[in-house]
Amino acid sequence: MMMLDPFSLADLEQAIACNQLDTYFQPKVDIASGRVVGVEALVRWNHPAKGLIKPNAFITMAEENGLIGDLTDLVCNKALEYATQLRSLGYDLNIAINISVDSLTNLEWPDRISSLLEQSGLEAPSISFEITESRLMEHLSVALDILSRLSLKRFNLSIDDFGTGYSSMEQLQRIPFSEFKIDRAFVHGAAREASARAILESSVLLAKKLDMKVVAEGVEDQEDWDLVAEIGCDQVQGYFVSRPLPFGNLVKWLDEQKSK
Ligand SMILES: [Mg+2]
Repeated sequence: MMMLDPFSLADLEQAIACNQLDTYFQPKVDIASGRVVGVEALVRWNHPAKGLIKPNAFITMAEENGLIGDLTDLVCNKALEYATQLRSLGYDLNIAINISVDSLTNLEWPDRISSLLEQSGLEAPSISFEITESRLMEHLSVALDILSRLSLKRFNLSIDDFGTGYSSMEQLQRIPFSEFKIDRAFVHGAAREASARAILESSVLLAKKLDMKVVAEGVEDQEDWDLVAEIGCDQVQGYFVSRPLPFGNLVKWLDEQKSK
């Protein structure tokens, strides 16, 4: 297989410095009411020569080369800017931002994000930080302090890609999470795959026992939707609702939902 090397570290440094990064937004819908309740901000790199690059191609590079702090700040800035615009258009939605565990080492970060939030005029309970389960469990003791500070400031904490990280009950109870996001691998097609369905069902059960909300990721068709609704998930995210959209398209999409 040919290995593609689409960009270098210098390219990425320049992208962060020159603001070539943007956030797309994927809507989250409440199953019971059918209403859009939030959006997840997803970073995209608009490379001048190579086009749109998705985050899995460059986040690891940023993490391994000490750029993740700058990248996280940039994404938070963008997401909050757009969130302020959404608010002024009358859309009061929860904004979810993905945070790398590697950015959860700086004890000053919760204060920095709080002052950023203050400038935006938004409130902490309307912001969720999503942290990937597998990487969190590798670095739990360091991250725990920062996560507790964020929780005290009333930000929501969400455990992302749940099901991929082998967390124990004990570990999960130590972290002030309010939401589980179940990984697509245990959602899409789970109606026809006994093992995926078993993991989905037990994850929902665990979340309910811990008094957390459950979001099913990767809902791509009616069959997925019906299953997660039956099992008791609270919210849905995935192509069946909408792909991640650039901000302008998100606003159009939200306007269309309103007139439905
Ligand atoms: Mg996420």
